[in-house]
Amino acid sequence: MKFVSTRNAAMTPVDLKEAVLRGLAPDGGLFRPAEEVNCKDLIASFNRNTEFTELSAAMIGRLFPEVFSREKADIISRKAFPFAPALTELNSAVRVLELFHGPSCAFKDFGASFLAAAMEQFLAEEGRRAVILTATSGDTGSAAAQAFKGRENIDVVILYPSARVSPLQEKQLTTVGGNVLALEVGGSFDDCQKMVKEVFTDPALQEKLPLTSANSINLGRLVPQAFYYLYAFALLKEELEGEIYYSVPSGNFGNLTAAVYAWRWGMPANGFIAAVNANDVVPEYLQTGIFSPRPSVHTLSNAMDVGNPSNFERLQEVFSGNVECMRSMIHGETVTDDQTLEAMKRIFESTGRFVDPHTAVGILSSERFLEMDGSEGKLVVTLATAHPGKFGEIVEEATGRRPDIPPRLARVMELPKKSVKIDNRTVDLAEFLLDRFA
Ligand SMILES: *Cc1c(COP(=O)(O)O)cnc(C)c1O
Repeated sequence: MKFVSTRNAAMTPVDLKEAVLRGLAPDGGLFRPAEEVNCKDLIASFNRNTEFTELSAAMIGRLFPEVFSREKADIISRKAFPFAPALTELNSAVRVLELFHGPSCAFKDFGASFLAAAMEQFLAEEGRRAVILTATSGDTGSAAAQAFKGRENIDVVILYPSARVSPLQEKQLTTVGGNVLALEVGGSFDDCQKMVKEVFTDPALQEKLPLTSANSINLGRLVPQAFYYLYAFALLKEELEGEIYYSVPSGNFGNLTAAVYAWRWGMPANGFIAAVNANDVVPEYLQTGIFSPRPSVHTLSNAMDVGNPSNFERLQEVFSGNVECMRSMIHGETVTDDQTLEAMKRIFESTGRFVDPHTAVGILSSERFLEMDGSEGKLVVTLATAHPGKFGEIVEEATGRRPDIPPRLARVMELPKKSVKIDNRTVDLAEFLLDRFA
């Protein structure tokens, strides 16, 4: 499979290696598949005994034979995924696909870990090094920090706003050490993002530093996320009697785009539910046909506080920019903070299960969808995007009880914080990077 820009279908297609190492297409668009690939036969061969690493390796080998021989596909799959998704049952119609069993306890581990392993291989093949520069408001940075820890020929510099991330998030960013460096910026997340952007668009710095981005628009993060939908389908297909839907708590819409790619490659799906919080530009688009990005508003499910979802460009391309066409596959649901808390409480009281606020948005959206249309013969796979222990305060507010923090997170709280303080000025960042890596 090769890739072109969402903004220029006529560009010369690039392979996965180039798309991953570049991050963004040369014209500022996002890379998207240049061709249709049909994997129906392969997908049909997966069943409930297929392990996640086996499924991933088979898909990687099929999709990218030009960069991964079958043997390399096996190696990278095992390197990237020492953790796996888990499918659980909420009730007869709603299944929960838990994606929080990786190192940072959120689904972003899947994308970040594959990207890190792939980049390590590609850089070694090219005899190159990379400095990954990224800004985080909390969660994305910790997945990247864990994923890139100890990778050869790669240094990671993460900017985060001082005193504006949670204590747990700060520890996750600042205790990895080694090739992962945390810069504590005296400023806001917007300042961090601006500084990173300015460094990336400075040609003189580009020339002196082997800079790469690893943010959520990188294809290396998107592609592996398609694999857990296939995995859920393989587990369910024997008991499936009617229709199957996937409910995806969404912010930047990477996860939903990956679901749609899985469907394009041959995974059976009757539709997808775009489950969002008050940041509802995509459900609004589905309703009105007008896409009006705007500044994000703060909610309890804060990893989904995105007012201008970057992957919308990729989704639009799949549906040829036609809202009718998108509507035939994607249904939008919007959930307020009050409804999120209510859902968390109700789910806990009826099943004893703690869910984090993002997952609650997904589950409530699944339930509404089933109520609207009748649940007879339908299954909805709802993605659980984060461990409830990561959002202990909110879970406690909703349920009156505090969930356990997974040991791998609790351990992080004991480690000493190591960060470098820096002002919110791009010149200071540039000087630091040149001093360290040029
Ligand atoms: C990032 C994130 C989301 C949103 O995923 P997108 O791919 O950006 O739509 C949802 N839940 C959690 C916990 C996240 O960290």
